Amino acid sequence: MSTQNLATRAPALAAWLDAHAETLDADATLAAEVLPQLAGAGLPRLGVPVELGGSGGTLHDAIDGIADVAGHSFAAAFVLWGQRVFIEYLLQSPNRALRDRLLPTLLTGQLAGATGLSNVMKYLAALEPLQVRAADAPGANGQRAWRVTGALPWITNLRQQGFVAAAAADREAGGPPLIFALASGAPGITRGDDLDLIALRGSNTASLRMDNAPLGEDALLTDDAPTWLAQLRPAFLGLQCGMVLGLTRRSLAAALEGGAGSRAIIGGDAARLTERMDAIAAALNSGLADGAFIDRPARLFELRIALTDVLHEANALELQAGGGLGYLRGRSSVARRQREAAFVPIVTPSIVQIKHELAAQAKRTRPVAEAATA
Ligand SMILES: Cc1cc2nc3c(=O)[nH]c(=O)nc-3n(C[C@H](O)[C@H](O)[C@H](O)COP(=O)(O)OP(=O)(O)OC[C@H]3O[C@@H](n4cnc5c(N)ncnc54)[C@H](O)[C@@H]3O)c2cc1C
Repeated sequence: MSTQNLATRAPALAAWLDAHAETLDADATLAAEVLPQLAGAGLPRLGVPVELGGSGGTLHDAIDGIADVAGHSFAAAFVLWGQRVFIEYLLQSPNRALRDRLLPTLLTGQLAGATGLSNVMKYLAALEPLQVRAADAPGANGQRAWRVTGALPWITNLRQQGFVAAAAADREAGGPPLIFALASGAPGITRGDDLDLIALRGSNTASLRMDNAPLGEDALLTDDAPTWLAQLRPAFLGLQCGMVLGLTRRSLAAALEGGAGSRAIIGGDAARLTERMDAIAAALNSGLADGAFIDRPARLFELRIALTDVLHEANALELQAGGGLGYLRGRSSVARRQREAAFVPIVTPSIVQIKHELAAQAKRTRPVAEAATA
C-alpha cells in the first residue's frame, strides 16, 4: 500500500472530510456534495487505464485511495467504494459500448455508480432467492430485450442527481442470472427515500424498485452472473478491504494520540495490531497482483475475516485509550468510528456469510481429502 496519505495527495479534500465527517455520518445534508468532492481529487480515476480516461496504475492504487478516505470519513469511503466498484464492473464487462457510454461521467463524478449485488451474492451462496425477475420481451433490430420487475432493499450511492446501479435478475426463460446497469429516471425505475440509518447517513443509501422496466442488451453488464462475479470477486472484496484498512489505521493512530501513560500501556498492543494489519495488507496485495484469489477465494475470505477482527481490536483500543472524552458528544471521533466499524461485518459478503461459505467449502473438499488419505 502506498504511504502517501490524503492530506498530502489531496489536502483540500482531506480538510473537507475532516470538517464534515460527523455530518456525513449523522445526516444527509451534504450527501450531494460527497461524490463531487471525491471526484474533484481524481479518486474514481485511480487504477483505471489512462487510455480510458483514468489516471493509470493498478487496483492497489484504487484500494489505497479508498483506504485514505476511510481514515477521514467512512461514509465518504463507502460512496467512493460504490463508485469505483461500478467502474470496475464496466472495466470487466464484455459490453464495451456501455463502458464507453458511462465511464466518462462516472470518472468525473457527474454520474454516481452504485452496486446492488448483495442479493445475487447471497443467492450464489444459497442464502436467499433472487428478488428481481427478467421476462423476455420483443427487442428492436433483433436485439434481446427484457421487462424487469423486483426490488432491492439496500443500495448506496443512489445520488438524487443521477445514478446508475448494477442489479441482477433471474431469467424467467431460464439460464444464468443477468446483471443490468439501471439508470435513474428510466421508465419503471424508482428510488426509495433515504433509509433511516443509525450512521453513514450521507451515503445516499436507499431501496430501488423495478416495475416492468424495459431493458435491452445495451444495459447488460453480463448475461452470465455467476461466471462474471467469480472473476470480479477479488476486485470487489479488495476494494472493500481498502475501507477496512483505512479505518483500522485511523483507529490505531487515534489510540496512540492519548497521554504518555496510556501509550505506555497500549503501545505494545497497537504495535502487534499494526503488524497483523500490515501482514494482511501485504497478503492482499500479493494475491490481487498474481491472480491467486480467482481460484482460491477461500484465502481472500480468510483475509477479510482476519482484517475485520483487527479492526474491532483496534477500535476497542482507541476507545480504551480515549477515556471518558470519547463518551462526550462532539468532543472526539471515537463514537463515530465505533458506528463506522459496526458496518464492516454486515456488508455483503458478511462475516457470517463468509464463514458459511468456508464451512460449505470445507465440507465439499473433506470427502476428497479423506479418500486420498484412506
Ligand atoms: C448502510 C448499508 C448500506 C448498504 N449498501 C448496500 C449496497 O450498496 N449494495 C448492496 O447490494 N447491499 C447493501 N447493503 C446490504 C448489505 O450489504 C447486506 O447485504 C445486508 O446488510 C445483509 O442482508 P440482511 O440484512 O438482509 O441479512 P439477513 O439476510 O437478515 O442475514 C443476516 C446475516 O445472516 C447471514 N445469513 C442469512 N441467511 C443465512 C443462512 N441460511 N446461513 C448462514 N448465514 C445466513 C447473512 O449473510 C447475514 O450476515 C447495505 C446495508 C447497509 C446496512
